[in-house]
Amino acid sequence: MDLQMAGTLRIDLAALVANYRLIAAQVASASVAGVVKANAYGLGAVEVSRALLDTGCRHFFVAHLCEATALRPHLPTDATLYVLNGVQPGAEAACAAIGALPVLNSLEQIDGWAATARALNRALPAVIQVDSGMSRLGLAPTDLAALRDQPDRLAGIDLRLVMTHLACADHPDDSFNPHQRATFDAIARQFPGVPRSIDNSGGAMTSGVAHGDIVRAGIALYGGAPHGEPNPMHAVVALDAYIVQLRTVDAGAGVGYGLTHRFDRPSHIATVSVGYADGWPRHLSNRGFAYIGGVRAPIVGRVSMDSLALDVTDVPDYLLYPAAAVELIGPHQSIDDVATQADTISYEILTRLGPRYARTYLPTPAAAIQEQ
Ligand SMILES: *Cc1c(COP(=O)(O)O)cnc(C)c1O
Repeated sequence: MDLQMAGTLRIDLAALVANYRLIAAQVASASVAGVVKANAYGLGAVEVSRALLDTGCRHFFVAHLCEATALRPHLPTDATLYVLNGVQPGAEAACAAIGALPVLNSLEQIDGWAATARALNRALPAVIQVDSGMSRLGLAPTDLAALRDQPDRLAGIDLRLVMTHLACADHPDDSFNPHQRATFDAIARQFPGVPRSIDNSGGAMTSGVAHGDIVRAGIALYGGAPHGEPNPMHAVVALDAYIVQLRTVDAGAGVGYGLTHRFDRPSHIATVSVGYADGWPRHLSNRGFAYIGGVRAPIVGRVSMDSLALDVTDVPDYLLYPAAAVELIGPHQSIDDVATQADTISYEILTRLGPRYARTYLPTPAAAIQEQ
């Protein structure tokens, strides 16, 4: 444990690769793309991409052009890098210069990309996203009609993929899923011969549906449950904080800002090295847990910026000493468990993991063999 930092984040790249293979087996003939936006959900885009490359992944999605610019030098030339939010007016040349494929979400983005292709006098590759019912990003039916009427607007664009995004893929039995899939099928016929992409993790792990040509896997790669329990994915992330200080208080004492918890018996408190500035949700004040030597200890009082307090009265004394490890994410508490306690989703727990953790990587099987 690096005691100069808030805690240690262990990222198991072998588990990541195992998750990649599990998804690949589920989607059969479709390719699995790695969604590595938001620094690979907080786990390190470069390290995660390298592990995915080792296992054969050649498609990578980020959200913003700045993420693509940072990642591109770490990818081989045969890897394709996609920008989900597309290319904004004025950023087209920068996007073309690094060879990233924008996901074109609107007629404006299409026109801007086509104009850039004309200016550069070469075809520029891109993806078109269509809105099949989520009403977030992508072409609306009226935009699709406009494209049908004016096919020249796509001149100069080398269309590599037509994609959509499902609103309810984390609930595979939701009736909106077949509706969106059918809507997308009908729209995609407007782009004959162009490969298709529909599914995120939840969609990819859904049985009995057509997965198109590329699935876009994020959370399931990182060990999050694609459909709630039971979770078939391997845990990738473990987070340990440490005990900064121990104290004993009398019955009636309060703890933390606002003294929102009061002890009804003489109690032991451990002050622990992680707070909301490290992405540990303040919403877990008086409701979350941590584990010391496998023994559960409740969070008492408010989570502070740089620390939180545990009631360790029921934890055996021999486990309690300064710098002792405190499990926040691990074998006793998954990212989905933490998310449920915090009224959020595992995605938010992961993407908020802050810069004050020492990130250590357990190697992929391939990398482990190379090191021997
Ligand atoms: C973030 C994102 C994904 C990945 O979703 P997961 O649920 O994490 O697998 C896929 N597609 C799009 C368009 C996204 O924005």
